[in-house]
Amino acid sequence: MSERIVILGGGTGGTLMANRLRKHHGGAVEVTVVDRDDRHVYQPGLLFVPFGMADPDDIVRPRRRQLKDGVAFRQNEVDHVDIEAEEVHLDDGTVLPYDVLVVATGARLMPEETEGLTGPGWNEKVFTFYDLDGAVALHRALESFDGGRLVLNVVDLPIKCPVAPLEFAFLADWYFQERGIRDRVEITYATPLDGAFTKPTASRALAGMLEEKGVELVTEFNTGEVDGEGGMLVGYDGREVPFDLAVVIPLHGGAEYVDRSPGLGDELGFVPTDQHTLQSKVRPNIFAIGDATNVPASKAGSVTHFEGEVLLDNVNRFLEGRELDASYDGHANCFIETGFHKAMLIDFNYETEPTSGHFPAAVGAPLLKDSRLNHLGKLMFQWVYWHALLPGRDIPGIGPDMPTRGKALADH
Ligand SMILES: Cc1cc2nc3c(=O)[nH]c(=O)nc-3n(C[C@H](O)[C@H](O)[C@H](O)COP(=O)(O)OP(=O)(O)OC[C@H]3O[C@@H](n4cnc5c(N)ncnc54)[C@H](O)[C@@H]3O)c2cc1C
Repeated sequence: MSERIVILGGGTGGTLMANRLRKHHGGAVEVTVVDRDDRHVYQPGLLFVPFGMADPDDIVRPRRRQLKDGVAFRQNEVDHVDIEAEEVHLDDGTVLPYDVLVVATGARLMPEETEGLTGPGWNEKVFTFYDLDGAVALHRALESFDGGRLVLNVVDLPIKCPVAPLEFAFLADWYFQERGIRDRVEITYATPLDGAFTKPTASRALAGMLEEKGVELVTEFNTGEVDGEGGMLVGYDGREVPFDLAVVIPLHGGAEYVDRSPGLGDELGFVPTDQHTLQSKVRPNIFAIGDATNVPASKAGSVTHFEGEVLLDNVNRFLEGRELDASYDGHANCFIETGFHKAMLIDFNYETEPTSGHFPAAVGAPLLKDSRLNHLGKLMFQWVYWHALLPGRDIPGIGPDMPTRGKALADH
């Protein structure tokens, strides 16, 4: 009997793993992907929807069609996993036994966890662009916004793509300039961090850019309550940040079923995972990829992609009874849109902070500086996502390990 590999989640990580496994093994293993719906959203595109720079229909494709022939797809909600019996239970009562389980159910938005956030004013004066409905609603609100205080607020970390809220602030500055009303809009960025970003060098560069663009930075702000009607964010320390329009990045946690699966997750619903092998710490035959893990890498599609290469190798090693390869180094690579057809690029891993220089070698896209080339890279990435990353192709010159050639490592 061939081995049964069940993959929970048919987003970035689940899809690329299923396709890589199918490509490697052909029909020699059974690969089943479970996802609750058939709409695969290209999430980096959500940033552009509020500004009318992306059409919602252009960033959504059917999930099934992204999976290679021979990969089974089940459209179901996962109810729970029984890690003792090695079974996945679906919402219609189906039980899927597995030899290897790959958890790829991403991160969940939990706006209801912040007092007042989903109360009066939600989707009228208070929005998030982290899901498609929110991004579309925010587009309408921005179109009719004629001036006042726009506040960006990250409630707490970890969040998906931690640079996306900064990108939103930069694009908002550009958008209001284009509309000729920038002088009537105050933009504020309120974050729980002590700077614009987590990594000190990038944080300095990004804080400088916020200042250049006239965006006020409020640090160490821990949102306790959102008063949508009164237009006020209230911090746990009593500080208040008034707004006319708030764009909030809610708390994130793992998928709900993780809480219903004894032993599978931590208190936030993420799966305890070895940061170098991507094997879970829960059971040797359970692996995890992407936003669903608790590894200290960014929750980003680029991370998920780099993890995929190491994970394929390790699932194969596990099936063959060989020692796993502890080679994932936390490599992350993010384009940061800065407006005016420009973007910055940062590239880093567990050990090395974002540095200046070039990517992926001495000649290449400039790091930690905005440029038109990086913006083109960000736009082109959508094509790469559907046509190379999801089908499980290797991207020439860009591997899972962070490149050091081209980086000014000594400067930092
Ligand atoms: C606004 C925004 C901008 C971003 N920009 C970038 C960027 O520029 N660059 C970058 O690298 N990354 C970016 N990201 C992050 C990137 O999209 C994610 O990190 C990536 O998609 C993670 O892949 P994943 O497979 O872990 O999760 P996902 O792709 O989110 O997939 C998880 C899947 O699990 C399914 N699922 C969850 N629970 C269940 C259940 N109980 N039953 C069945 N199915 C379930 C979901 O339906 C979903 O399809 C951005 C994210 C957002 C929100």
